[in-house]
This record gives sequence, C-alpha cells and structure tokens, in this order.
Amino acid sequence: MAELKEVKGIGPKSLMLLNKLNIHTIEDLVTYYPFRYERFERANLAEVGQDEHLVIDGRIESSPILMRFKAGLNKMNFRLVTQSGVVGVSIFNRAFLKSKLTVGSNITVIGKFDKAKNVITASDIKMEPLSNTVKIEAVYHLTNGLTNKNISTYINMALMTYGKEIIDYIPNKYLEKYNFTNKKTALNIVHNPPTEEKRDEVTKRLKYEELFTFMFKINYLRRENKLSNKGLKRSIDKKQIDKFIKTLPFELTNDQNKVIDEIIKDLESPSRMNRLLQGDVGSGKTIVSFIAMYANFLSGYQSALMAPTEILAVQHYENLKEIFKDTKVNVELLTGSVNKVMKNDIYKELEDGTINIVVGTHALIQEEVKYNNLGLVITDEQHRFGVNQRENLQNKGYKPDILYMSATPIPRTYALAIYGDMDMSILKEKPKGRQEIKTYVKTNKEIKDVLAMMLEELKQGHQIYVIAPLIEESEKSDLTDVNKLKDQMKLAFKDYFKIDIIHGKMAAQAKDLIMKEFVQGKIHILISTTVIEVGVDVPNATMMVIFDANRFGLSTLHQLRGRVGRGSDASKCVLISDVDTKRLEVMEKTNDGFKISEEDFRLRGHGDIFGTKQSGDMAFKIANLRDDYKILLQAKKDSEEYLNDTTTDNDILKKEIIKSIKNA
Ligand code: ADP
Ligand code: MG
Repeated sequence: MAELKEVKGIGPKSLMLLNKLNIHTIEDLVTYYPFRYERFERANLAEVGQDEHLVIDGRIESSPILMRFKAGLNKMNFRLVTQSGVVGVSIFNRAFLKSKLTVGSNITVIGKFDKAKNVITASDIKMEPLSNTVKIEAVYHLTNGLTNKNISTYINMALMTYGKEIIDYIPNKYLEKYNFTNKKTALNIVHNPPTEEKRDEVTKRLKYEELFTFMFKINYLRRENKLSNKGLKRSIDKKQIDKFIKTLPFELTNDQNKVIDEIIKDLESPSRMNRLLQGDVGSGKTIVSFIAMYANFLSGYQSALMAPTEILAVQHYENLKEIFKDTKVNVELLTGSVNKVMKNDIYKELEDGTINIVVGTHALIQEEVKYNNLGLVITDEQHRFGVNQRENLQNKGYKPDILYMSATPIPRTYALAIYGDMDMSILKEKPKGRQEIKTYVKTNKEIKDVLAMMLEELKQGHQIYVIAPLIEESEKSDLTDVNKLKDQMKLAFKDYFKIDIIHGKMAAQAKDLIMKEFVQGKIHILISTTVIEVGVDVPNATMMVIFDANRFGLSTLHQLRGRVGRGSDASKCVLISDVDTKRLEVMEKTNDGFKISEEDFRLRGHGDIFGTKQSGDMAFKIANLRDDYKILLQAKKDSEEYLNDTTTDNDILKKEIIKSIKNA
C-alpha cells in the first residue's frame, strides 16, 4: 500500500497536520470517521429559519466578487436567483471556482442561511444539480490548519486512488451472510452519505468489522494462552488449605469458596492462569488472594502481590503477617520508602527464595527484581497489565499464573470487551452480618443537618471520613480549602474530637502516620483531598461525607462509599452537591455495584469506569460499546467460529489478522 504522503493533495504541511490527528497511513485516513453529520434539506427560502442549513438550486445572477485577505484567505460574493427569491451567497476559500461561476449557470448551493441579511454562507457549491433533496455532510474533528473540506478531500482522493487495496477484514462468509457491501463502497458511503438509511447501513457494517477483528484478537490470545501450556503444572495439597481456612476468624462465603476452587484448578493446570476476580467493595477479595498465595506457597513457589498505592501495600503486608503468623510463610514488603540496605537484602532473599510472598507496588515486576521461582502474580485494584508485560515476565524466565482483582464492577459489555481474553470469577455475596450503607444526597445549604449526623456518629465512638471539595486548582489553594474545611469542622466539634488531614502531596511517611492514627482510632474525622489514600480497612469508620460529589462518577462514589460499612455497625454516606442531584440519587436507591456501574455506563460512557488510560487502550474508531452491544455479541460469535474453523487456517485474510495481532 502506498504511503500517506503519496495521496494527491497531501503536502508536507498537511501530512504533519494529519499526523497530529493520529493519521499516519492511508488506512488511518480512510477510517478517520466523521463524529457527526450535518443535514441540509432542499428548501424554499421562506421555510428556512435564521441560521438554519439548506440546499438550494438557482441561477447565478451576478458575477462573483472576490476578496482576498491576509494569510491566503479569500471570500466570494454573488447573487443567486432561486424559485423563492433572490439571495446573496458567500463562500470562503474557493477562489479557484471563480471562472466556473459564470452568470447564468445553474448551480446548487449548500450552506447556512442568515435570514436577516438574506445571505447564505455556503459550505459547498455543486456545479451540477443535485439529484437528492437532502444533502448529508460528514463533520470531522479538526486541528488548526485543516478544514473539514480538506479532510474530506483527502479522504475521497485516497479512496478513489487506493480504495481497492484497503483490506476488508470481514471474511467472505460473513459478508455474504449479512449481505454487507464491500469495504470501499462502505467507506465511500460513510464519508459521503447519499441518504441516512444508506449511511446507517454501512456504519453497521464498519462497526461489525471493527468488533469482529477485535473479538478475533481476544479469542485468539485466549486460545493461544490455553494451548500454549506455558504455565506451571503443580499439585496442591487441598487438605492443608482446608486446615488453614479453619484458622480464619470467619467462615468464607459460598462465593469465596467457589472462587478459591476455580483458582486452585487454574494453578494446577499446565496452562497459565489469566483470571479476573471481580467483586464489589467489601465482598472479601483479599482473603481469597491470600489463600491463592498460600496454595502457591504449598506448591513451592513465590508470590508477588501488587497494590496501587503504598498505603494499601502496607495494609496487605500487615494482614498477611497476621494471617500467616502460625505458618512457615515468609512475607516481605518492598516499596519506595524501604531504605536501600533493606532493599538489597530483600532483593537477595527474593533471588535465593527465602521470601515466599512479597507485597509492593507495580515496581515488583517492572524493576530488576529477580525471583527464585515466581509462581503467582496478583494485582489488586489495578488495571490489567498488558500482554507485553506478561511477555516480559516470560522472557525473564518466569511463567507465573496471574490473578487480577477489581472492585469496579464492570458492565457485561465491557467485561466481554476488555477482559474477554481472561477467565472471570465473581464474588456476588457479601460476608454475613453486613448492613446496607444508607446514602443521603444533600445540598450545601443542608450542611447543618450533615454536621448533626456526624455528631451522632461521633458520640457513639465511631469515626468519619470526609472527602474534601475542590481539586483542579493549584496545590496551594487545595490546601487552603481543606484547611478551611478543617477549621469549620473544628468550630462545629470543638476540641472533643480530633480532626486531621491527609492529602496527595504529603510524603508517604507522613501519610502512613496519619493513616495509622486513624486505624488506631486516635483521629475521629479524617479529611482527605484525594480518594486513593482512603483505600484501607477501618471497621470503626461508619460515616463518609463527600463534598462536591457531582465531580465523581457513580462507580467512583460507590468505591468510596465502600470504605465504610466494613464492620457490623450501620453506616452512612452523605453526598453533598448542589447540582446533578438526579444522577446522585441513584446512590440512595441501590448498594449494588453492578447496577451502579450499568447506570454510570449509561450516563457517562466508559470514561469514568476505567479512567482515561484504560479507555484509550480500547478506543474504537467507529464502534461504541454502549450502543453496539448486539453487534459485539454477533461479532464475538462469528469470530470464534472463524477462529475455530480450521479449514480457513490457510486463508490469506486469517493470516493477515493474526500477523497484525503479533505486531501489535
Ligand atoms: P474487598 O473485596 O473490598 O477487597 P476485603 O477483602 O478488604 O474486601 O474485605 C472486607 C472486610 O471483610 C475485611 O475486613 C475482611 O477481613 C472481611 N471479610 C472477608 N471475608 C469475610 C467473610 N467471609 N466473613 C466475614 N468477614 C469477611
Ligand atoms: Mg480490596
């Protein structure tokens, strides 16, 4: 296939601008889809309102007057006689049309009507009459220096010259099955739709193609993983595990038992475990992961547990120490704040196998940490790490089983798309004795009620989390705001209760100290500017107040709220916001994280659920998981069938798709 710069009309400057839009190849260009369409309807001048779009035929009555401005801009004005009267027409940057726009010629003008001035600002002029009464124009995301018309011209030029060479990733079988048009036609139509019906038809086809290849890729990776037998095969002494489970201070839920069985089966199987453990906040994922690590230990291997923050790592470490105190399991903590001498010791002991379980942040697998025999990697509350990182571990000679834990319930659609190459375990059941968290949406005016509720909790000896308002502005003003809030709280609660602040910019040690005091009950009200730092387990904290709750997605609010209600006492959560209360009220109605994430998803798309990073990973060009679930399911089914159909293994297309996966 030719290079982008070979497309007629694309010079060095436009090439650079196209690159800016992430268009690097001809394929990128022709799949640079419009984000919306403008509809122009053939109309009578009298019917069209101020600033409305229209398509109108007429005869040129006056010779165009050309005006040139600086920076190469120009504008032409002429008069047009139409069936419904004479109207002025202006068009920008089309000086080259001047010789064609002769008095008496019949043309079609497409543009926006300034009724008050009786002038149409044309976006396009057609020298021949249009056959349709409607004109639908593709609208693209632009960058400075590139107009919509430029992009459209480049795309059409590329399609005309190279359209036939563009790979159609849909195998013939499915093209026929669904009666889809060929790719070139589909692209032509999506960029220059003759009608909305035709456009919708090919859009569906292009979405299907995108989802088909996506699902093919996921299914392929999953199959490779299963077939490769690249994992560790070990047998695990289940009696030992049962014995250990009996020492726990509580009884496991049925879901926890079921998931533990699933994990042990994976550990024993020769293919690598690649499993996602999903469970709402408080559903008890941690203990499941501890038991998995114990099983891994019993089979003679080391485990690495990665937490997203240091505070969480420390908490896991302390819990692990406690839970394994009567066993031979040797646990260590490796974080940024461990001093150099100790770090070196830990490195040594990881390499010689003295350490059985190491807890820390992501650095555990990324840095030059050498393991004696790494058998299991667990990531807590962390986005999945990519195929590449898995490959890296493999290259270092490790082939550990991998377990991801996520407290963000993922709507089915997303789970399928993002985690489709993984096996999934779900903890639905909450541990016994948990009470529902009561949630209230309040406005800033009702702060007195909120303070009264807080006092009620404090009097019972409970503790409170407060998530401070603000962010966005500078760090300094953040702190002023939090300090102001602290002063207000002090005013309300006098010296009877201890109030303190934790914020993102604090040194890790200072944070640790504050958290420790909160865990020990020495701090009654903990005001936090960031949401991450509160990821710890404090059963005596029974209330959370979240200021400016509207700035969070529902899933995030649910996560935050899950920090209370961890003990046997009833807990409350107050969401303070003057706007967007309708959305927030969803939180009053349900405590089911899955329902909330569905709702969140419906309201805001996937952005909030995964953060921007993750959504970037799976940016589709034309498909949209929120609306295209049905197509996704069909594409999933078909791509599985295609992958498993060995008679097509020698097809050029299949090889092409597999090659593109390996290159990615
Ligand atoms: P999450 O799934 O949010 O990570 P945790 O694993 O932190 O939840 O568990 C929340 C709390 O519930 C912890 O204090 C944990 O010890 C406790 N827990 C876990 N499983 C059970 C159970 N089966 N019965 C009672 N308490 C449990
Ligand atoms: Mg957890």
